[in-house]
Amino acid sequence: MARAGSGLSKSLILKGLQCQKALWLAKHPPDFELPPQPDLQAKFAAGNEVGLLAQQLFPGGIEVPYEGLSFPAQLARTKELIENGTDIIYEASFSFSAIFVKADILVRDGDHSDSWQIYEVKMGTGVKPVNLDDVAVQQYVLNGCGLSVSRSFLVHIDNSYTRQGAIEVDKLFHAEDISAKVAARQQSLPEIVREFRLTMAEKKEPIIDIGPHCTDPYECDYIPYCWQHIPKDSVFDLRGTGIKKFDYYKNGLIRFADLPLDDLNLKQRQQVETTLNQQDFIDTQKVKEFAETLWYPLCHLDFESFNSPIPKFDGTRPYQQVPFQYSIHIQQEAGAEPQHFEYLAPPGVDPRRELIEQLLAVIPGNACVLTYNKAFEKGVLRNLAELFPDLAAAINLRLPNVRDLMLPFRRRDLYRWQMRGSYSIKEVLPALVPELSYAGLEIADGMAAMRAYHAMCELEDPVALAELRQAMLKYCELDTLAMVRILGALEHIN
Ligand code: SF4
Repeated sequence: MARAGSGLSKSLILKGLQCQKALWLAKHPPDFELPPQPDLQAKFAAGNEVGLLAQQLFPGGIEVPYEGLSFPAQLARTKELIENGTDIIYEASFSFSAIFVKADILVRDGDHSDSWQIYEVKMGTGVKPVNLDDVAVQQYVLNGCGLSVSRSFLVHIDNSYTRQGAIEVDKLFHAEDISAKVAARQQSLPEIVREFRLTMAEKKEPIIDIGPHCTDPYECDYIPYCWQHIPKDSVFDLRGTGIKKFDYYKNGLIRFADLPLDDLNLKQRQQVETTLNQQDFIDTQKVKEFAETLWYPLCHLDFESFNSPIPKFDGTRPYQQVPFQYSIHIQQEAGAEPQHFEYLAPPGVDPRRELIEQLLAVIPGNACVLTYNKAFEKGVLRNLAELFPDLAAAINLRLPNVRDLMLPFRRRDLYRWQMRGSYSIKEVLPALVPELSYAGLEIADGMAAMRAYHAMCELEDPVALAELRQAMLKYCELDTLAMVRILGALEHIN
């Protein structure tokens, strides 16, 4: 939410609760180019969709729109609605002590009552501490404006809901009473607000070092700015758990070369040593044993999927992965040039039946099916078998044939220092097959593919639609071509 004049807003207070330097930087932007956040717009759009749908829990309300009304006009409209006896207000606006807030849904607590219930809508599937702070700020402002708040609720997604037909809003959403926890936060708010105002008025940037607060509860916008001093190959690049990275940082043990190897687990030690010495590690026997678990014909398979808080199709739950695309490269024998097949759903229709029918038509029943992270592909196939009982036998015939190309890299049968401790295909490919790259692709990872799917469903311009589909096909094709080349590299090791 934007700020009202020079005052505080709810979002600025939440920023300050995470880190006062972030609050200060929001008011005094640094002379530093922050990279764009590609997810942001999609998140806003999804949040707006969820917010609008949740209003149906309390039908017949009147909205105080953000668009097209100045802040004073939003405040005046809210006041007017309250005075006129309106019982349900969406996006009601208030300002107290120069803090501006909008309440998602405000409901009068009984006929002619002077008390109100706050319903804050979130896309998550439970209540987080930051949500309590969020509603606490709203209640503080409403109380300051002379309104009594009887109860407050967090309306979140219930991910046990399965869609059948039209969305049932009372089942999709769960309203959790958070009144007591919100009340417990009221006492400290005046002092917090006073402190934040002093911080914002400071001429100099606050001296606050990086720490776990940089990503909790949210990934801070200013990470590229505040983390500039962290060198390449630092303690923060170490994979795996078990070491307290900020403890090492505070003790000046930042670069790989500074780290005491005895403190690290085997894989972390290997990551540090191979990076420092620019060495590779290959267990030829294990690589060979892995290759022997595969056979031909061999199908390199990759799905792309999307999820959304509001299930789009019958039989799906909130945030369930729904496949909309696959790419498959089929090799008849080791080293053979592969044949390529692909599927990308048309926009806006349930893609699952068409996708699985076409896939079954191209994967021979006796073929080895190679994936990269088989848990995901097998999960998708199992869901489809459950959804389409008439296809279950054909899907189940292929399920035991699924193998995982990630396995030798996760086990570190083969490790190159350029993999930076990771076994993701995005790190393994450039280390093993540098001539093939995701660089320069318009869509270069699974999240971008998911965003592209959502964008594709909204596009009306046929030219833009065709271009976007082309980019989506190119990305998914590269994923399975990468697998062909990586397997080729493994087979050369034998
Ligand atoms: S990156 Fe970390 S230290 Fe910098 S403003 Fe954000 S939370 Fe604060």
